[in-house]
Amino acid sequence: MKIGLFGGTFDPVHNGHTQIARAFADELALDTVIFLPAGDPYHKNAPRTPAEHRLAMTQLAVRDDARFAVSDCDIVRSGATYTVDTVQIFRQQFPQAQLWWLMGMDSLLQLHTWKNWQMLVRQTRIAVAARGESSLSAVPSELRNWLGGALENGTLHLLQTPLYPVSSSEIRGRLKSGPAADEWLDAAVADYIRCHGLYRG
Ligand code: ATP
Repeated sequence: MKIGLFGGTFDPVHNGHTQIARAFADELALDTVIFLPAGDPYHKNAPRTPAEHRLAMTQLAVRDDARFAVSDCDIVRSGATYTVDTVQIFRQQFPQAQLWWLMGMDSLLQLHTWKNWQMLVRQTRIAVAARGESSLSAVPSELRNWLGGALENGTLHLLQTPLYPVSSSEIRGRLKSGPAADEWLDAAVADYIRCHGLYRG
């Protein structure tokens, strides 16, 4: 069994997320992609929409692809939730599975700042979608040794799909100043946002 784990704030979940998840699933022949909305911040200077809304929107956004699922694993854990621990939980639950952690290139360039990232890359394969201006040529020195080896042995996979130039922050900015952002959102997610008055500033 091949499982893709897709962590994010999903504030809100947008078409870029679902498009790259679909591309990951197709290209890596994943049986499932599990979206993992992040929990509420444990320190106050990182405001974000309450987890119940981000979870509900993510559940709406994944409903059309039978390979997609959503887990509240990172929401129900208290305190700081680290990716390395999340992967460990899925490793215990699916000991025989091939696990892939899915991310955009902007996240890959930050990977060396994640807790125990060296352990994380031993526990899971990593698949990366191109994003904006972020490029492998900007990879920090801390990641270079691992990156070369991982590309060679296939534990790091760069997705062959076009760019999907959209971000949650851009959508939040739009919604705050008034105009809709429907072209970047699943219709049911856009309705949910309207219905709950989210992102109005
Ligand atoms: P924000 O703008 O608030 O930072 P975001 O759009 O980056 O949000 P996240 O939920 O933080 O959304 O992203 C989760 C993961 O999906 C990250 O690894 C991010 O790099 C990746 N990702 C999000 N949008 C895209 C996109 N359009 N193309 C490629 N990767 C993306």
